[in-house]
Amino acid sequence: MSRAYDVIAIGAGSVGVPAAWAMARSGLRVLVLDRFASPGQGSNKSAIGGMRATHSEPAKIRIGLRSLEIASTWQETYGDDIEWSTGGYSFVAVSQREEAILKSLLQTQRASGLDIAWYEARQLLEIIPSLNPDGLVGGTYSPGDGHCSPLLLCHAMFERARAEGVTFRFHETATGIDVRDGRVRGVTTDRGAYEAPIVLNAAGGWAAEVGSMVGLDHPVQPDAHEGGITEPVAPFLAPMVVDISPAPGSSNYYFFQHATGQVVFCITPSPLVPGLDRTATSGFLPMVSRRMVRLIPKLANLRVRRTWRGLYPMTPDGSPIVGLSNEIDGYAMAIGLCGQGFMLGPGLGELLDRLVRDDVTSEDRSALDELSPDRPFEGEAALR
Ligand SMILES: Cc1cc2nc3c(=O)[nH]c(=O)nc-3n(C[C@H](O)[C@H](O)[C@H](O)COP(=O)(O)OP(=O)(O)OC[C@H]3O[C@@H](n4cnc5c(N)ncnc54)[C@H](O)[C@@H]3O)c2cc1C
Repeated sequence: MSRAYDVIAIGAGSVGVPAAWAMARSGLRVLVLDRFASPGQGSNKSAIGGMRATHSEPAKIRIGLRSLEIASTWQETYGDDIEWSTGGYSFVAVSQREEAILKSLLQTQRASGLDIAWYEARQLLEIIPSLNPDGLVGGTYSPGDGHCSPLLLCHAMFERARAEGVTFRFHETATGIDVRDGRVRGVTTDRGAYEAPIVLNAAGGWAAEVGSMVGLDHPVQPDAHEGGITEPVAPFLAPMVVDISPAPGSSNYYFFQHATGQVVFCITPSPLVPGLDRTATSGFLPMVSRRMVRLIPKLANLRVRRTWRGLYPMTPDGSPIVGLSNEIDGYAMAIGLCGQGFMLGPGLGELLDRLVRDDVTSEDRSALDELSPDRPFEGEAALR
């Protein structure tokens, strides 16, 4: 066995990197392992960069608010340009179904500290003039949400983590977790073995595989989602637009215009496409562009430059699984981040640091109850 650590994180992605950084700031000796060549090469680099606190559950709203605070002040605090933009988020309603869903969430969202309001169609058109008024019922707008570059933020946090003493080992796959007498002792990889009393599973789409190393069956199933980017055009769209109305082949889609002019977009297929295959398909673009053009007709003139496919690590109820195992001492989980790992990562990293140091606040405690590995996984988050 080589030198001992306080914590070993498996996964240098949207969650593992901020968690390692937060723990190192608290003085813990942290090792991060990743099978890929550099940070963020799992799902993190597939994310389109949306960061919101507009969720349906209090835990995600509060963690999202902290992530927004970190990302939106990043450049002034640390100097790196992560392409942050506070454009807000608008969830649009094109039928009474979405209107009812979105309005039913407002009370919880506001009580959890989110700045959000409902706008009738004509008011929403003042915020997003390019929306098609035909069939538009209205929508919510949360001005504090925004977007930034997933790779730039991940890399910036990786550099901070290294400066705080975190050891990263890339091209190294965790193959086993050493458990003796019901307690975690360390991790075995394809290149060595490392000791630590705490192991954090932050393995994204591979979380179930890592869970099986300690004999646990995590309900995390990777499924494939595709994204795309257009040519740059003059600014016409400030917020991220999300349409949760179902249509043949998809359940929702979202898009925004980057500061450099490109429109970046993504869709959730329905039914979901389970598996680890990250090969882009020909069906994605016609499906998503039909929906986007119906909502914003002038998008019809845009040329698409590139599409890609990545993974959502999904859970049955659409919320992450965060906590310490009751079965195995020292085994921590921050898995099943669904389509929200990038936006929750920075706030979640700090929560994980408090969790492993046994220093949680009462607000943390209620978030951990909501996201507990032992919850019944009944129902589905309204905003996933
Ligand atoms: C098209 C698309 C658009 C998206 N848009 C957004 C968005 O706008 N906002 C948002 O918040 N989210 C978005 N997401 C979702 C987001 O990408 C994920 O929720 C998030 O990246 C998951 O973070 P993670 O840290 O759990 O996993 P990852 O970032 O995948 O990190 C897990 C890491 O673990 C490593 N690993 C796994 N097993 C092992 C092992 N045995 N040994 C060593 N290393 C291992 C992997 O190599 C990987 O690097 C999007 C996803 C897709 C596909």
